[in-house]
Amino acid sequence: MSPTKDQKLKYISSLVSSCQKCELYKTALNAVPGAGNPNAEIVFIGEAPGANEDKQGLPFVGNSGKLLDKLLNGIELRREDVYIANILKHRPPENRDPLPSEIKVCTPYLKAQLQVLEPKIIITLGRYALNYFLPDVMISKVRGQISQITWQGLPLTLIPVYHPSAGLRNGSMLSALESDFQTIGKFLKTIK
Ligand code: URA
Repeated sequence: MSPTKDQKLKYISSLVSSCQKCELYKTALNAVPGAGNPNAEIVFIGEAPGANEDKQGLPFVGNSGKLLDKLLNGIELRREDVYIANILKHRPPENRDPLPSEIKVCTPYLKAQLQVLEPKIIITLGRYALNYFLPDVMISKVRGQISQITWQGLPLTLIPVYHPSAGLRNGSMLSALESDFQTIGKFLKTIK
């Protein structure tokens, strides 16, 4: 029998957990490969684990995660319905921005995860996740816009939004996030 999506994702997670392709594993406590429903049609992609995620080995379990849960609940989604992953799988020290070299060696894991998941919809959280799919695009110009793209031969609906941590720092970004999640909620109703 061929392996299930769950088994394939667990195998990718095991590779991530022993990854030494960049220096980040040296300072991180745990790898954060990703978590959620292996049969999800919707995948959220963040930037990199923070301190709480590093401690627990799970994505979006700190303050940004609480806001993400609230935004998800607001459009009748639960974490168990979706899959959540990050561009980088180990925490950068002091939560500094990902380096291009780190993104280069780490994103093959994300690519493998997406090739297993074959999601219909990808929601990017913040500019690093957006720029993985659309390298030269500014998040302030495209956030909340629904576009159809072909990525690695997969037809995808891409919806970029600001990172929840930006929403926690800045009221107008929080309003934009809330409004973009309403757009996502309405879009999901149209394809049900
Ligand atoms: N920020 C991210 O981008 N990812 C996480 O998992 C947590 C915070």
